[in-house]
Amino acid sequence: MDEELQRRIAENEGLLREVNEAIERGQWPGEQDSDAAFRCECARLDCSRLISMTPREYERIRSTPRRFVVVPGHEVDAVETVVEVRHGYAVIEKRDKAGQLAEASDPRSS
Ligand SMILES: [Zn+2]
Repeated sequence: MDEELQRRIAENEGLLREVNEAIERGQWPGEQDSDAAFRCECARLDCSRLISMTPREYERIRSTPRRFVVVPGHEVDAVETVVEVRHGYAVIEKRDKAGQLAEASDPRSS
């Protein structure tokens, strides 16, 4: 995959994380264990699939900068490793260059 494309994907994923963090923050106190609709954080620029999971679960995955939640099958094997498969979603971890870009584009790291 060329670097320009990788950078564009990392930017897209950074944006999706901001959207998902807003969803997470938008929950009422006490709703941490109720399902909410998060956006799939995959590399497909036109993906708008939703993932149903609890804010607590999202937060657990999100606390690792290289990890993203995606709809099962939306992982890109060339740059990502599936580390967990749950009901309705998969957790991926970015490798190498893609992992560095993911850390750099993490809204929490700036
Ligand atoms: Zn997707």
